[in-house]
Amino acid sequence: MEQLMYFKNAAYRIEDIHLFRDISDSDLVLIHQIIQDCPVVKARAGQIVLDANSSGSRLYIVLNGALGITKLNEDNNHIENSITQYLPGECVGEISVLDEEIHSATISALCDSDLLLIEADTMWRLIDESNGVARNLLQLLSFRIRAANAQIRSRQKVGEFYRQLSMIDGLTGLHNRAWLNVQMPSMIEHALISGNPLSIILVDLDHFKKFNDEHGHLLGDDVLQSAAKVLNAGLRPTDFAARYGGEEMMVILPGTSQKAALGVAQRLCTKLSKTRIFTDQDKALPHITGSFGVATLQTHQNAADLIDAADRALYRAKNGGRNQVAV
Ligand code: GH3
Ligand code: MG
Ligand code: MG
Repeated sequence: MEQLMYFKNAAYRIEDIHLFRDISDSDLVLIHQIIQDCPVVKARAGQIVLDANSSGSRLYIVLNGALGITKLNEDNNHIENSITQYLPGECVGEISVLDEEIHSATISALCDSDLLLIEADTMWRLIDESNGVARNLLQLLSFRIRAANAQIRSRQKVGEFYRQLSMIDGLTGLHNRAWLNVQMPSMIEHALISGNPLSIILVDLDHFKKFNDEHGHLLGDDVLQSAAKVLNAGLRPTDFAARYGGEEMMVILPGTSQKAALGVAQRLCTKLSKTRIFTDQDKALPHITGSFGVATLQTHQNAADLIDAADRALYRAKNGGRNQVAV
């Protein structure tokens, strides 16, 4: 048989009110007595029911309508209602009643709502008098903890996604300079501690300004993408390619000696010079070449020293006539 609870001449199904679910008949009689004098308050749509940062030793049970978490801007104007909603039968404010701390969120009425207001001392009486209410409250708290944990996890995932994204160059899809700044020092430290060699190749496209001037910046971007693909495709899974600057790219080869790095650089140089790039109209563009500077980590070097050595080697490759590798 349906059990009803009466407040202010309105009847509510007990089983619809989460805190009072599955409670023994004798407890229900007690609960009735305890909450008989609790007022039912009306909240108009948009009205704030619980204010974040204020302590409020009361709990509301939604009887009709709906409440939602509201974000406020600095002027305390609503900016947005979150998707978290509190529907009839659910309660808000219970955590502040229990720990007497301030509310963690601002909650307002999403539409005109009727709320049963239970003051803290009344809530504590309910907990003291009824095991059922205490049990329901525990269940509710575990639900809240799980929901909060899930939210933290999903925020962490989103944060990690954007962190990864911020380490990738938008045009070429290679790692970017920010990634290099973070990763290079630890790769160098790892190489120095383990005693394994580490080599880098600095690549600079030849006469790229001229290419841009003759064919336009957009086709120049296509060339950069093609060059990035050439570099990336020619590497082992343990190697990395990054966009170092405008048309300069860097290849990092952990565990690779100078001799082996020279071989890799020569292979990439040849492959780049043979790559054909087509316009949208399928017109082949002139071949593009690059100059390659190779440097291998010396024990006294840090990231800046190593890059500097590769830069000087690159300069030698340019001076030697471009489209070549130098150490
Ligand atoms: P060198 O052979 O001596 O390297 O000649 P260069 O013309 O390549 O060298 P310079 O450094 O004078 O010019 C680099 C050019 O790269 C200038 C700039 O317009 C172009 N560049 C840099 N970043 C981008 C980019 O993102 N897209 C395009 N299309 N061009 C870029
Ligand atoms: Mg350059
Ligand atoms: Mg260049």
